[in-house]
Formats: sequence, structure tokens, C-alpha cells
Amino acid sequence: MEIREITVRRMQMKMKQPFTTSFGTMQDKHFLLIEAKDGSGRSGWGESVAFDAPWYSEETVETNWHIIRDFLVPLLLDAEISHPDEVSGLFSSIRKNNMAKAAVEGAIWDLYAKQHDMPLAKALGGTRHQIEVGISIGIQESLEELTAVVRQYLEEGYKRIKVKIKPGKEIEIVAGLRQAFPDIALMADANSAYTLADTPLLKRLDDFGLMMIEQPLASDDIIDHATLQKELKTPICLDESIHSLEDARKAIELGSTKIINIKIGRVGGLTEAKKIHDYCQGKGVPVWCGGMLEAGVGRAHNIALTSLPNFILPGDTAASSRYWEQDIIRPEVVMEDGYITVPNGPGIGYEPDFESIEQFMTDMWTFRRGEPFVL
Ligand SMILES: [Mg+2]
Repeated sequence: MEIREITVRRMQMKMKQPFTTSFGTMQDKHFLLIEAKDGSGRSGWGESVAFDAPWYSEETVETNWHIIRDFLVPLLLDAEISHPDEVSGLFSSIRKNNMAKAAVEGAIWDLYAKQHDMPLAKALGGTRHQIEVGISIGIQESLEELTAVVRQYLEEGYKRIKVKIKPGKEIEIVAGLRQAFPDIALMADANSAYTLADTPLLKRLDDFGLMMIEQPLASDDIIDHATLQKELKTPICLDESIHSLEDARKAIELGSTKIINIKIGRVGGLTEAKKIHDYCQGKGVPVWCGGMLEAGVGRAHNIALTSLPNFILPGDTAASSRYWEQDIIRPEVVMEDGYITVPNGPGIGYEPDFESIEQFMTDMWTFRRGEPFVL
């Protein structure tokens, strides 16, 4: 594939509204942008989805910066690869650090698709021309506020509402929303805020016809989730517990999950994401694509992945305007009547907006093949 040069940009973008989960509140999104260039001047783009604090996983922007600069880029610029599927093998000597790996691999996938003049969605085996869009809503100050926010997004056309819940608030949130909106596709994400001792409480959520409850128990658990699923009518969807195809296989065999949320960063890249998709499809387990409050490049990768056939539930990939006053790609991601059209231009199908990228960039470095690594 002739990868000549990798540039990593450190970015900071202020979100339109702060986003609150059971862990805390985020206002600024810090992330890394990866640009991989070939000898013809083409660029592939990837985005690291790690947050600035290790509350979703152990990775952060800072650990990604270190792992990408000191390990992944040197490995990549020292190797010859002919297909992006080879990147995960190349990185296999580095344990975990999946978000760092996925960011670099994503840039290589985009570059590969551009070199072959095809959309990334097609390079991945995607079959959909448009994807259904859901929205993930953080914890709000009050039920009234949450209801107003949900109403606004439903009016904008979002197909599925996901709300974050936390202990002590879950029944009020879910019952309140169900009363206000009896027929909407509704789900709840607990981000591991509960334990098996909360089973009676979680069983009460069965009364509200949720599509699923996401990651109720510990972020590294698949045993207790299997015990809980036996008690619940509501399907459990695993997010944080699934880092690989092997994790997905074990969770499905144990009965810990009936649905899987695939996040490209969490599973180490598009190649592994596609393997999980294919395995779940074979098992009749639906998947959907979760969000990490991505800027445009990461959002575009999610859209391409979601075009695969077993992404049969609406994901979290909302329009750019949901999060940003100004995105870093042109055109922005737009949603119409609850759908995003999968772009048919080469690669991710959106152009980097360099003016915007410059504006939000706080640091950068470039490494070139054959040149010593000097910072
Ligand atoms: Mg989640």
C-alpha cells in the first residue's frame, strides 16, 4: 500500500452541550486525528475515540498519543502491507490499546479505499445506501428537561432514543419517558452502574418495553450478565465487555447478551468489527454501532461500518449538528427523516476541512518512512 508518512494531530473541540453519563460530565472533546499518506499524495484519515479521562475504558488521549507515536507508527512505517486487514496482525505484539490501534487502522482503511477508488462502505462489504439513526441522550437535570430534549429529537426524526440511566434515577427516567412517549423505540444504557444485587430493580424495567438494556453490570463481566439475562425479559446488550471477536463468542455462548453494540475503537478497528459483525450475523444476534461523541472522521467510519447487513438496529451515529457548531469534514454529516445517506465518494466519502482542523488543533507531529524518529 506504500504508506509514506503518518501525521498525528491533537484536537480539542467544544461540544454544543455538555454530555453527562453515570461517570460524570464532559464539555470539551479531546481526540487525535491520524493522517496516513501514500506516495501519490493521497491521504487516509482515522480518529482516536479515547476520552481525556479513563472512565469509559483504561485508554485516554494521552495513552493513545504515547502508544501511537512510540509503538504503532514505528511498526507500520517499518512494514509492507497490501491490505488493511494486515494491520491488526502487525499490531498484535502490542497488548490491548484498542482505540489507539483502531485510529491508525482506520486511516489505513480509508487510504486503501481511496487507492481503489471505492467507498469505504463498499470496501468493508457494506450493502446499505442509508442507515437508520438513533440518538444517545445524557443524564439531564430533571425528567421535564429530559422529556423536552427527547421530544425535540423525535421531531427532528431520530429513529430510536437511548437514555443514560444511573442508580436511583432509572425507574423515574424510563417510566416517565414511556408515559410521555408510549410507542417510541426506547433503550437505556447503564454504563456498568449496577450489580446483581440490583436484579429486582432491573426487573422492574421489564414493564416498560425497552428494546434493550445496555451494559447494566461490570465493564469486564460476562458471567453475571448471563445470570441477570435469565431473570430479565428485556434483552441485554453488551458494550464495554466486548473487546474482540473472542469476547463476543464467549458472551453469546454463555447467554450474557442478545445484542452487541460494536464500537470500532473498543474492538481495535474495522477488521475486528467486521469479524464480530459476521459472527453475530451467523448466530442471529443483531448488532448496532455505538458512538463515542466522534467528530466527523470517526463519525464517517461509523457510517461506513453501519452499512453492513447485520447492523439492523439504529445506532448512535447522529448528525454532526447534534454535537458540533462546526465539524472537521465537508460536507457535514446530515440526517434526513431519520436516515443518513452512506456517501458514495472514495474512502470515507467526506473531505477534511483543513481550516476547521487548524482551528481545533493543539499539537501535531509527522513521521516519514525511512527517516529517523525524532520529535
Ligand atoms: Mg454504552
